[in-house]
Amino acid sequence: WPRRWARSPPEVRHAMSAQAATPDYAQGAAYVGGQYVPIAEARIPITDWGFLRSDATYDVVTVWDGAFFRLDAHLERFMASCARFRLDPGLPPARIADVLARCVRLSGLRAAYVEMIVTRGQPPWGSRDPRQAVNQFHAFAVPYVWIANEAQRARGLHLAVSSVQRIPSTSVDARAKNYHWNDLTMGLLGALDGGADTVVLSDGAGHVVEGPGFNLFCVNAQGTIVTPAEGVLEGITRRTVIEMAAALGLPLQVRALPAAELRGAREVFLSSSGGGVLPVTRVDGAPVGDGAVGPVTRQLVDTYWAWHRDPRFATPVDYGPDTVSE
Ligand code: PLP
Repeated sequence: WPRRWARSPPEVRHAMSAQAATPDYAQGAAYVGGQYVPIAEARIPITDWGFLRSDATYDVVTVWDGAFFRLDAHLERFMASCARFRLDPGLPPARIADVLARCVRLSGLRAAYVEMIVTRGQPPWGSRDPRQAVNQFHAFAVPYVWIANEAQRARGLHLAVSSVQRIPSTSVDARAKNYHWNDLTMGLLGALDGGADTVVLSDGAGHVVEGPGFNLFCVNAQGTIVTPAEGVLEGITRRTVIEMAAALGLPLQVRALPAAELRGAREVFLSSSGGGVLPVTRVDGAPVGDGAVGPVTRQLVDTYWAWHRDPRFATPVDYGPDTVSE
């Protein structure tokens, strides 16, 4: 018997073994320690520096209608994040793609949030040299995550501009996707306490940067779309918005975005793999434009979902029969 079962009475052991024979992946599937397990059973060691020090990098790709969206772009960014943090996933991108697809296949999910992670692991006891740690690769697929619920998407989010400064990129490279979220979480708590739905942080010099899980855009008073250039994760959805604007002939600038320009904007929206293009209709309690979701935002929302059917961006998942034999 596995050690954790050893002290269970025989009838419990029997139930556990029956359960183990038919693992339930309906809530999601994970790949940890080289094995596939139901999401609720996925564990990493408490001494992994990924947990103790947020010493990790990750990426999130989504599956929509049974196909990955921009899988190659996410894998490319993940490998770049790993290189920036001197983390080694130990698998080439093609093999990572296989693991992700298998997590999705096991779960059977047609709309999924699929995360890949490398943690530092743990150096030998007594050593504090990160170079001696064996980095660990983990992945999981769970049901699609929306960072705004249906009602918020319909009416537009209420956004607060926080006085909390985002960790500067000179300290933690924002281009490498990371778990240094205390600034985002404290900012979000303040915004929620004040009655807003979500928050955007600043760079400490009067510009807005990004929020918990999203990049920020506005359509300014001149009708130009603006998104911050520095101090942000280069979101794949942000890149998609930039490409959609070019395809639609909409003017767009990537540059510093003063909070005052955001407050005077005609339209504001967020971009995230957790829902795509998400409208914002209030900033610090004041209506954006006429307070309704604007036409540029609507056009980008529609184009975003239309692009999910474009073979340039969609990688279908093979949902054929699978067994967990590894
Ligand atoms: N900025 C931060 C801090 C994020 O964590 C995320 C996504 O989780 C984003 C921006 C948006 O990136 P993407 O469009 O690739 O989901």
